[in-house]
Amino acid sequence: MPELPEVEVTRRGIAPDLVGRRLASADFRVPALRYPLPHEERSQFVGRRLVSITRRGKYLLLDFGSGHLLIHLGMSGSLRLVPALTPPDKHDHVDLVFGRTALRLRDPRRFGAMRWIEGDPMQHPLMAVLGMEPLTADFTAAWLKAQLQGLKAPIKPTLMDGHRLVGVGNIYASESLFRARIDPRTPAGKISLQRLERLVPVIKATLTAAIEAGGSSLRDFIQSDGSSGYFQQQYFVYGRTGKPCRVCGRPIRELRQGQRATFHCPHCQR
Ligand SMILES: [Zn+2]
Repeated sequence: MPELPEVEVTRRGIAPDLVGRRLASADFRVPALRYPLPHEERSQFVGRRLVSITRRGKYLLLDFGSGHLLIHLGMSGSLRLVPALTPPDKHDHVDLVFGRTALRLRDPRRFGAMRWIEGDPMQHPLMAVLGMEPLTADFTAAWLKAQLQGLKAPIKPTLMDGHRLVGVGNIYASESLFRARIDPRTPAGKISLQRLERLVPVIKATLTAAIEAGGSSLRDFIQSDGSSGYFQQQYFVYGRTGKPCRVCGRPIRELRQGQRATFHCPHCQR
C-alpha cells in the first residue's frame, strides 16, 4: 500500500513536469474508483493551468486555481508520467493530459480516489479529520506528550491513528519505536517527555530516509511500469520475525495489536 513517503516521492516526481502547464484533457475510463470520478465537473479544470501540487497526509492536491483535484492512491494505485499517446493497460483508469505528457493513474483494486473540491480543500470532510503532519516543525515531543496525556492504549496503534498524526503506517511505527528503543506495548500516556524527545526525531528521520531512498529510484518510479516505487529498505524489525536483531542478535518477535502485526525486539525495546 502506498504510504506517505511513496506519495511524497510521487509528488516530487511529477510536479516539475506538470506545474505551470495547461490540462488539455481528462480521460476517465471508468465511472468510479472508490468514489465517482469527476466526469460532471470536468469543465472546471480542463483547459486550466496547474498552479501547484501539494500533499496532505496521503492525499495529493492539484490546484487549478478554480479548485483542487484531490487524488488518493488507495491500496494499489500509482501515478506516472507517460507520453500522451501510450495505449492504456486494463488498470489505467485515468489520464490527465498535459500537452505531450499524460499523468496516468493505475489502480488495479480501485480503492483510490479522484475528486473535485471547490473552496478551501482543508475544510473538506476528508481533509478536516487529518492529524498532524509528521515532517513539520509543529510535530514536537511536547505536542505529542499533550496528545498522549492519560491514554492507556499502547503506543504503537496510537501512533498509527491518522486522526492524531498522519503518515505513520505499520512499517514506520514499528521501525521508529525500535530506533527509539520503546516497547510497542507501552501505554501511550506513560511515556516520558524525555523518551518522546527521542521518538519524534526518529519518526521524522525514518520517513525522511524512506523519501530519500525513493528519490534515488525516482526515474524508475515514473518511467517504468510503476511497480518499482516501493522502497527496498533495510528494516530493523519490520517483517523480520525470528531473524536476529541487528543490534543485540536476539530474535525479533511478532505480536498482534488491533488487526496489525507488530515487530519488535523485547531486549532492545523497553
Ligand atoms: Zn535487539
